[in-house]
Amino acid sequence: MNTLAPRPSILSVEPYVGGSSKLPGVNRVIKLSSNEGAFGPPPGAIAAIERAARDAHRYPDGGATALREAIGARFALDPARIVCGNGSDDLLTLLILAYGGEGTELIMSAHGFLMYDIAGRWAGSRVIKVPERDLVADVDAMLAAVGARTTMVFLANPNNPTGSILPQAEVDRLRAGLRGDILLVLDSAYAEYVERPDYDAGAALVDATGNTVMTRTFSKIFGLGGMRVGWCYAPPAVVDVLSRIRGPFNVNLAAMEGAIAALAEAGWIEKNLAHNSEWRARVTAALTEAGIKVWPSEGNFVLADFATAAAAQAADAHLKTRGLIVRAMGAYGLPACLRITIGAADENTLLIEALAGFMAEHRG
Ligand SMILES: *Cc1c(COP(=O)(O)O)cnc(C)c1O
Repeated sequence: MNTLAPRPSILSVEPYVGGSSKLPGVNRVIKLSSNEGAFGPPPGAIAAIERAARDAHRYPDGGATALREAIGARFALDPARIVCGNGSDDLLTLLILAYGGEGTELIMSAHGFLMYDIAGRWAGSRVIKVPERDLVADVDAMLAAVGARTTMVFLANPNNPTGSILPQAEVDRLRAGLRGDILLVLDSAYAEYVERPDYDAGAALVDATGNTVMTRTFSKIFGLGGMRVGWCYAPPAVVDVLSRIRGPFNVNLAAMEGAIAALAEAGWIEKNLAHNSEWRARVTAALTEAGIKVWPSEGNFVLADFATAAAAQAADAHLKTRGLIVRAMGAYGLPACLRITIGAADENTLLIEALAGFMAEHRG
């Protein structure tokens, strides 16, 4: 008799559905659903990935030494305290495997990045989603949610999908209010897009405490989502734990070479940042003008709020007929919203025109 079953928490996870990339019957598809960089991969990274193909029979360096050194040099961090992963998702999952699991609680904000919820369930953690204030994480409410079994707190800063950011003083206050045996994970996937002078992506808190980790990615501004490269900066004890449980070759050769080249691409961040700031402001202004509420964003995307789930669905359907794919937000508890990635100039222009047309039709 076959009575095979996984651990119960596994079946509480819905299979992940990523941002789609195909629309039947549409010639040109414009994908603004996964916050991928507006300019594609850096040219130097494409060349490096092509070169890596010739060594595809060799195992990669399991320690990712050259990549960690390149990251350390670029961001002024000690390479010995950097761990690389198959996307930052890999590292988020490994952290939960190590510090969460059955009998523990994981705290995140209500509209925080879904991966914490998903990986938390994989591990069997009880995931607590703390209500936000105007789509901004509420530090007092998060601290109040901490219980005896809490072992991990996750904060994406800036957050995806809301785009909101917590000031450094609030992040510091969150850390200061947490017990020493609680790991705070600062997910800074959008750090390179932030232009606030007081912003620190998390390294300062990692250095000042023994129980804070910062995660980063090559999937957003560096344009390498398909390569799957992420990294974290962590205290030595956490680096030790991760090095015991990560896959021995968790970053592949092409990904490593591509990421190293992306870091070396002259002017890449500056170019992307300037484009993003300009177009995020233009998209925000145009949508607002059309009568759509746009939440303030520090990332390469905006959250457009149509007030009702029915209106958001109708807007999404309207965009699809024009080949524009954005992200529905039901899974994030925001069914009246669509998350829209800032794309190339012509893509953004088509998006603006399509949504202005939709609003004109539906204003009655
Ligand atoms: C995109 C994203 C990630 C995932 O990045 P990968 O490195 O591609 O796994 C992590 N956190 C947030 C908040 C993101 O938006």
